[in-house]
Amino acid sequence: MSEKRKMTLTTQVLLGMFLGIVLGLAFNLTGLNAGGTFTGDYIVNGLFHVVGKMFVNALKMLVVPLVFFSLICGVCGIGDIRMLGRVGTKSFALYMLTTAIAIATAIIIAAGLGIGGGLDLATTSDFSGREAPPLTQVLIDIIPTNPLAAMAEGDMLPIIFFSIMVGISILMVGTKAKSVVEGAEIANEIMMKMVNIIMAVAPYAVFALICKAVANLGLELLASLAGYVLVLVGALMFHLFVTLMIVLKVFSGLNPVTFMKKIRNAQVFAFSTASSNATIPVTMRTVTERYGVDNSVASFTVPFGATINMDGTAIMQGVATVFIANVYGVELGMAGYLTVILMSVLASIGTAGVPGVGLIMLSMVFTQVGLPVEGIGLILGVDRLMDMIRTAVNVSGDAAVSCIVAKSEKKLDTEVYNDPTAGALSVDDAIHIDPKIEEELAQVVDRVHGQT
Ligand code: ASP
Repeated sequence: MSEKRKMTLTTQVLLGMFLGIVLGLAFNLTGLNAGGTFTGDYIVNGLFHVVGKMFVNALKMLVVPLVFFSLICGVCGIGDIRMLGRVGTKSFALYMLTTAIAIATAIIIAAGLGIGGGLDLATTSDFSGREAPPLTQVLIDIIPTNPLAAMAEGDMLPIIFFSIMVGISILMVGTKAKSVVEGAEIANEIMMKMVNIIMAVAPYAVFALICKAVANLGLELLASLAGYVLVLVGALMFHLFVTLMIVLKVFSGLNPVTFMKKIRNAQVFAFSTASSNATIPVTMRTVTERYGVDNSVASFTVPFGATINMDGTAIMQGVATVFIANVYGVELGMAGYLTVILMSVLASIGTAGVPGVGLIMLSMVFTQVGLPVEGIGLILGVDRLMDMIRTAVNVSGDAAVSCIVAKSEKKLDTEVYNDPTAGALSVDDAIHIDPKIEEELAQVVDRVHGQT
């Protein structure tokens, strides 16, 4: 298969994103997105809404079985069970470190530029905060009382815990459990194939999702909050292109340009779904098949990162805190900012990577430092777009840390990492079915029927 053909899917997804932005803007500027118009009711909030939601559901559908089976395979294939502890410790430390750097950078940039000063927006807001769970409860909830309930709810930390326990217990049972491991390997492979199927429709779904999001953007609001938006996007880009890439280079020696080129698909999925959790299947595929990270590392670091690692969200919290403190004329001081850093890092552990969760974390931070929670109402209108961008940064952080940890454990195939075509998909090979295999399977089914 030629390289050109293989790159088609990424190109198509990017094209879908681009066309979605253009058409979305056109709808927005001409008012064709409004309720009561045919295009608004039946296209933007009808067809595009349905297609987008169906796609996000399809991704979410894969998350739990994929994490469960790949973690079982990961634990069983690890060879040395102590490695599990090391992977856990290293990834936790790196996730916390990058999140702390992220929010500190954000505060320094935002405070240095003095955003929000002189603005008088205080009376327009009506946001009431929600509590983020306390850390003690987060720790308790890591252990599920009912693993099936945790799976039904998609609670990532308890699912990770249960899957690791199953994997370790399988190892303890030994050869008798060989068929279970083989079963999990096959199930994992099947799930990864399903990721490919869903990726094949991604160009259209990404188009629909982004077109709807852009069409419904409050452009005037965006303009009135231009200072906040620009500083936030600037800090996010700085973290993505500078901080994360320095961390990647320093800790692993891997080439950041290669990393950036291969992460695009996962970033577009994160951007259009605004959910690190829903993006897990794509991040997992990117990390294992495009970067060459062994499943024994990726099966843990990717879902773990989607839950506890939120660099982009932390940056939003830093910028929003400075912005709202300035709008309300509250002097936070050094102690206040340090509390913000600590609270944001802690809050990211207990909250899942789903759309809009950053605002909930922000309300927790605000309560802690004595900022008015209603202040969050000021940035609510632009938060969806900011959520999309920061989720792309969150997911990039998950992938970067997965590469660093894998490299340090000698579980990264540098040949795959450096091969620009490794793991690249075209629509054709995404859903390729070998006619010979089809025939063979049909015979198996026939045989089984014959026996019954
Ligand atoms: N949507 C983000 C994520 O899934 C979390 C947030 O910032 O709201 O990573």
